Amino acid sequence: MNPGIDDLPVRDELRGKSPYGAPQLDVPVRLNTNENPYPLPEPLVERIAERVREAARGLNRYPDRDAVELRTALAAYLTRTGGHRVGVENVWAANGSNEVIQQLLQAFGGPGRTAIGFEPSYSMHALIARGTGTGWISGPRGEDFTIDLPAAEKAIAEHRPDVVFITTPNNPTGNAVPAETVLALYDAAQAAKPSMVVVDEAYVEFSHGASLLPLLADRPYLVVSRTMSKAFGAAGLRLGYLAAHPAVVDAVQLVRLPYHLSAITQVTALAALEHTDTLLKYVEQLKSERDRLVSELRAAGYEVTESDANFVQFGRFADSHATWRRILDRGVLVRDNGVPGWLRVSAGTPAENDAFLDAVRDLKKEQE
Ligand code: PMP
Repeated sequence: MNPGIDDLPVRDELRGKSPYGAPQLDVPVRLNTNENPYPLPEPLVERIAERVREAARGLNRYPDRDAVELRTALAAYLTRTGGHRVGVENVWAANGSNEVIQQLLQAFGGPGRTAIGFEPSYSMHALIARGTGTGWISGPRGEDFTIDLPAAEKAIAEHRPDVVFITTPNNPTGNAVPAETVLALYDAAQAAKPSMVVVDEAYVEFSHGASLLPLLADRPYLVVSRTMSKAFGAAGLRLGYLAAHPAVVDAVQLVRLPYHLSAITQVTALAALEHTDTLLKYVEQLKSERDRLVSELRAAGYEVTESDANFVQFGRFADSHATWRRILDRGVLVRDNGVPGWLRVSAGTPAENDAFLDAVRDLKKEQE
């Protein structure tokens, strides 16, 4: 017998579904997954090798289950850059912010419970909800992709979700959510029932504005989620983290697997944090490249959503998938997130962005 997936007793809600993931195509210019295009600097590579060598000598033992040294370093980074004092007791770390989100939904969602997000947004929120048996509610966004506050408040009052996701800057649209909107949604969520509000700040280092970390003061139901995949240029490391009231950190420990964060991951992340200032210089470069993409796309006649992230949503296209393919034919891979009329491009190196801009200018010329 050679069964296919449908012959196996998989859970009903997983039947007929495909795994999440952008196409991994071998093309010269890949601007589709919001990665940082700059490899880690050589002195950091050396430091990682040194710390990993040291850690390798202790690999017969399980790693620090509570990752205290790493959480302390992450807390120091947040305190220094986020405008709010964060201690080790406020921070939790996992294998990418996807795992952080999974642990939050395991702790606060689950069967019989619901989570809401304002879509289009990061589609893994809905998928992780499904994977954890949490019901998903697709909340509204306005025509311009900002959160329509009255409509969002109404959805929260009506559905009384257990978890509310707010992605800022939002993926794939790029725009940031104002602090006042987050506060209003937090209040709406608490009025409906005490529910957790998760602010996904994966791209916040690229923002024109500030982090929402200061909102954590006196708001025990608020969680800010972060990652080293984007600003730290370490998507391959798989390190995400959250900041919240210490009780939230206690709650996620009820569902985390023991020793979930390997000793290699912990020391590699620590080495990267030692080089924070150098890595944040690349962020400045990427911000100016992002701004260049916005202005050049507009100059070429495209519509662009305001971006506070390391990517830009551009349009509009009668058939965005056909346009995606035509850009790909010119050797540039961008992302079709399924938002009708729009595509998304990640800010790459200046040369990669030039290649992308040449491709999309070419498309306009063809239409003339
Ligand atoms: N949140 C958002 C909004 C994202 O776009 C991403 C990555 N695409 C993540 C979280 C997950 O990042 P990671 O698991 O690499 O930390």
